[in-house]
Amino acid sequence: MKNNTLVFATANKNKIYEIQRLIPENIKILSLSDINCTEEIPETQPTIEGNASQKAFYVYNKYHINCFADDTGLEVEALDGRPGVLSARYAGGNKNSDENMNKILAELQGVKNRKARFKTVISLVINGNEIQFEGIVNGTILTEKHGTSGFGYDPVFAPDISDSELSRQPQSFAEMDLTEKNKISHRALAVNKLVEYLNRI
Ligand code: IMP
Repeated sequence: MKNNTLVFATANKNKIYEIQRLIPENIKILSLSDINCTEEIPETQPTIEGNASQKAFYVYNKYHINCFADDTGLEVEALDGRPGVLSARYAGGNKNSDENMNKILAELQGVKNRKARFKTVISLVINGNEIQFEGIVNGTILTEKHGTSGFGYDPVFAPDISDSELSRQPQSFAEMDLTEKNKISHRALAVNKLVEYLNRI
């Protein structure tokens, strides 16, 4: 896809910032405010895949412009995959990341199995046709918050990092700078698949 424009259907400035660094310059990314979309986009599906799809089609159908949306969930093994699709509102409707993390830390107090994974699904809608890309990063939930970078659950999530991936060993995503997070994150893995696809069509 040469010299083309895509809307990234998110109001989350952190996501736009992360993704802009991964998308080649020949693809122009517009935000929702660039297309004067100020309403909250519904995310009412029971799965991460369904929500990504719902957000992308909402924008495509209403604004008639090619777009993509991402939906992300943190899946904790000892919590049977929760918060998963409910990650944004895990501790209540106000989408407060600090409270969401506190809830997970409390639920995992004394729990040995701290395995978790972040899963991102990107839904791309071009001319009404959809294709999805998935990125997963495995890791563990720390016993307390570490670091101040990033957003969401970053301070409590320690990704599994192989020796060759980063030159130093930060613990949580929130202790990494964006270049480091973008080397290994769930969102980066999904975006890289999106970019590879866009370069092919
Ligand atoms: P959504 O994809 O915007 O619905 O995000 C769901 C929840 O996961 C929100 O609480 C986000 O803050 C959180 N989240 C999404 N992406 C990340 C990430 O890269 N790191 C940490 N938390 C994230």
